Amino acid sequence: MDGRLVNTSFSMNDSKEYSLRPVNFNEYIGQSKVKSNLKVFIEAANMRGDALDHVLFYGPPGLGKTTLASIISKEMNSSIRITSGPAIEKPGDLAAILTSLEEKEILFIDEIHRLSRTVEEILYSAMEDYALDIIIGKGPQAKSIRIDLAKFTLVGATTRLGLLTSPLRDRFGVLLPMDYYTNDELKEIIIRSSKILFMEITDDAALEIAKCSRGTPRVANRILKRVRDFAQVKKNNLVDIDLARHSLDLLEIDEFGLDKIDKRILEALVFNFKGGPTGIETIAHFLSEEISTLEDVYEPFLIQQGFIIRTPRGRIATDKTYKYFNINR
Ligand code: ADP
Repeated sequence: MDGRLVNTSFSMNDSKEYSLRPVNFNEYIGQSKVKSNLKVFIEAANMRGDALDHVLFYGPPGLGKTTLASIISKEMNSSIRITSGPAIEKPGDLAAILTSLEEKEILFIDEIHRLSRTVEEILYSAMEDYALDIIIGKGPQAKSIRIDLAKFTLVGATTRLGLLTSPLRDRFGVLLPMDYYTNDELKEIIIRSSKILFMEITDDAALEIAKCSRGTPRVANRILKRVRDFAQVKKNNLVDIDLARHSLDLLEIDEFGLDKIDKRILEALVFNFKGGPTGIETIAHFLSEEISTLEDVYEPFLIQQGFIIRTPRGRIATDKTYKYFNINR
């Protein structure tokens, strides 16, 4: 998305992707703690006729942070503007967005940890006092003017809570951690998505795909769409366990849900770095991958699944990893 343009709609090309997005809390599967908290805060704000306090979602990509932001806007009977940290280049860009917001409107900033410091500073008074302090002119003639803003709600999302500065983090009233989904929850998501995509799928096939989806709805939906392609080419209307397994093999995703890059990371750690401890920079460099991709997308899942331990001296392979490669230690 071109983030400079604050976009609230999705293009026609995204329409299928868009249609898979749950539009209310009932359709939104899993994350029960986050949902029940949000429901209370939204109801209380609505009873007061007030804007919702600023909300920060944190957790790995693809877990449903953007989706929740749009559900919040619906529940608050307001609209949502969607942008992201790297897309807001100058303080003026953010000031233009903020001054155009209406009462109770939701401003969703994805990857909020990637805002530049000068842009971020604009947010402090906007979040706390619903005002912008702007300095006009330079030197002794410089004047500071204050512009009042509508009482809006900032919904921030980040994959890296630790990279948020504390002044910014402290200005969020509600901090909500997003967890990986269980296989049963992902199975439910896959069955829901299949219906929307007019696919027929057996229960065990849905569970097989769920197990290989890294706890992540976005991955589950992506695999499901590829499985649909295989089914279509094979003129097979029903996705059963054999077709699901066959498709997953062709996609090079194994029964642990590990894909090619996961395997390369583990191979590097075990065979090239003798099981570690090895710094993530060294592994990224060795694999010619971005450090941030390894840290945001791959490592959290490998740690959660017990394949890697993170220590201050670097990453270490576990017994499970050695077993994975059939190595006796
Ligand atoms: P994030 O903002 O955390 O990267 P998104 O909100 O873009 O994640 O979600 C990715 C995709 O996963 C969405 O298109 C949506 O279809 C699906 N999805 C996410 N969370 C859920 C959920 N709880 N139930 C059903 N589908 C979900």
